[in-house]
Amino acid sequence: MIPFDNTYIRLPDRFFVRIDPTPVAAPALIALNQDLARRLRLDPDWLAGPEGVAMLSGNRVPDGSEPVAAAYAGHQFGQPVAQLGDGRAILLGEVIDRDGVRRDIQLKGSGPTPFSRGGDGRAALGPVLREYLVSEAMAALGIPTTRALAAVTTGEAVLRERPLPGAVLTRVASSHVRVGTFQFFAFRRDVDGLRTLADYVIARHYPQAAQADEPYRALLAAVVARQADLVAQWLLVGFIHGVMNTDNMSVAGETIDYGPCAFLDAYDPATVLSAIDRLGRYAYGNQPRIAHWNLTRLAETLVPLLAEETEAAVATAQEVLAGFAPRFEEAYHAGLRRKLGLLTARDDDAALGQDLLKRMGDNQADFTLTFRRLADAARDPAGDAGVRDLFVDPTAYDDWAGRWRRRLAEEPLAGEERRAAMNRVNPKYIPRNHRIEAVIEAAERGDFAPFAELRTVLAAPCEEQPDREAYALPPAEHERVLQTFCGT
Ligand code: AMP
Ligand code: MG
Ligand code: MG
Repeated sequence: MIPFDNTYIRLPDRFFVRIDPTPVAAPALIALNQDLARRLRLDPDWLAGPEGVAMLSGNRVPDGSEPVAAAYAGHQFGQPVAQLGDGRAILLGEVIDRDGVRRDIQLKGSGPTPFSRGGDGRAALGPVLREYLVSEAMAALGIPTTRALAAVTTGEAVLRERPLPGAVLTRVASSHVRVGTFQFFAFRRDVDGLRTLADYVIARHYPQAAQADEPYRALLAAVVARQADLVAQWLLVGFIHGVMNTDNMSVAGETIDYGPCAFLDAYDPATVLSAIDRLGRYAYGNQPRIAHWNLTRLAETLVPLLAEETEAAVATAQEVLAGFAPRFEEAYHAGLRRKLGLLTARDDDAALGQDLLKRMGDNQADFTLTFRRLADAARDPAGDAGVRDLFVDPTAYDDWAGRWRRRLAEEPLAGEERRAAMNRVNPKYIPRNHRIEAVIEAAERGDFAPFAELRTVLAAPCEEQPDREAYALPPAEHERVLQTFCGT
């Protein structure tokens, strides 16, 4: 039994299409997120039972569910597309979680919809497992994200470059409204639709904006702030989204639509792993610029509404957008300082952090391990050896470490306390690409043990897990994954 309480379906008809999931041949549960289920006030035993699995595979629409595919548009790799929409996802409905927050429950890979544009509406097992692992890893890292409630295999093949096992992911989000949802109405010059959508988003995500003198301006400012904070957090853990199209950017500020996403191994801001991103538009280091570009598209859609609040709508939009860079810089540099073990702020801290990153980039140092091992070096210079090892030229670290130590000496916190504080913000375990690929390969052979093991490791990214040291290591030369695929 699911206590659905649906609101999106109360919006005007043109916001969505009612459509049921397409049943599958032989559903089998491969993962259930029990913690998340309880948080959503759902019964894990029911979900794992026959009725639950029937829902999670799309074979049965449970009481209270009103399935819809949402309409949206978007810029894909910079090009406008007036009609996208949920082509392989179906929103079952909404529930209120234990914290009183409304959450969407959505199936991904649940069959075609009127927005499928020739696609099969299905998902392959590999991308479903990738999204499950990476989105849950992001949650464990404390980064706003959609969540994975469950994954099932369908017993059907999906045809990609070759036939692959099919799967359905159940995704939970604080909503699925995207920048592209606003664009859907803007492209149609449907100002009533825009107003209805903006009011819905304010009520659902930014209720304080309703109290502001200029609610639509306040809405834009709130989305800008959340995205700036989000992208700063991505950079601080080495995350590359991979497809930051405007239809893949949530206005609620959650990481959404995990496709060819990846984490950095060696630090290089130009890193692009997605096979479909040939020009490097969505490279690791380009993400703040792209977030700003996407927010500019959002601001454009809001101009007719801002014009109801002010005569200077465009100038207002520009002013709000100008707030992105300082907000991002502030969040990023505050985070970088914490990663270096600095709890107080000094003018030169940003330069100190940038200098380390530059040296890491020149020396192919592993992003995650460099920061993780700094905690040991901060406690005791004997810890330097572990960090030096990560640099092609270890003296590049030594030169920097001298300056860092002089700065650390000005800090109130030291010793074991500082080490613990650093370890809380510098994860040891991230979903490394080569591990995910190995999990997928095993799963395609029917062996889900590596998936289960990796899930467990990633649930405690900052803890020491002595039996699982190997999961902290970067790929060996032959394990390196050079490209990730959308694998839709
Ligand atoms: P994405 O780049 O994965 O965010 O998807 C872009 C658009 O393509 C969205 O409208 C998706 O719903 C749609 N899409 C992606 N894969 C499929 C598929 N296998 N079948 C139908 N539509 C799809
Ligand atoms: Mg409709
Ligand atoms: Mg998408």
